[in-house]
Formats: sequence, C-alpha cells, structure tokens
Amino acid sequence: MRLRLDRNLCVGHAQCFATDPDLFPIDDEGFSLVDDQELPADRLAAARAGVNACPERALRLEEDA
Ligand code: SF4
Repeated sequence: MRLRLDRNLCVGHAQCFATDPDLFPIDDEGFSLVDDQELPADRLAAARAGVNACPERALRLEEDA
C-alpha cells in the first residue's frame, strides 16, 4: 500500500499528526508534509487511523500499481 496526500485538500488542522507524528509530519502551520510513500506492513494500521482522522479526505491509501 502507498500513502498519498492531496495538498490541495489539506487545510492544516493536524488531526493526522495527532494520530501518529512520525507517519504524518506537519509544517509549522499544521499542514501535512506527507510524501508519497510505500508503507511497511506493520505501519498499515497506523496509516489507516491517520487517513480516517482527516476530515478533508486529503490523505488516502492506494494499492501498489
Ligand atoms: S488531517 Fe488532513 S487536512 Fe488536517 S493536516 Fe492532516 S492531511 Fe491536512
């Protein structure tokens, strides 16, 4: 699975960060700094929690191509 961020949808309230600061880093204004990344299997549950915490649906998980 890959973790992706749509920066156009992120409004910077850091609810993703609150679930897992390592997986969902933010800048000084609270906007997500998530890079498109491959997720190790042991981070999937944490990634799902962060994705589900985003009210703007700016984060998503995608199957590998
Ligand atoms: S919860 Fe969503 S909108 Fe808020 S900072 Fe994280 S990605 Fe951006």
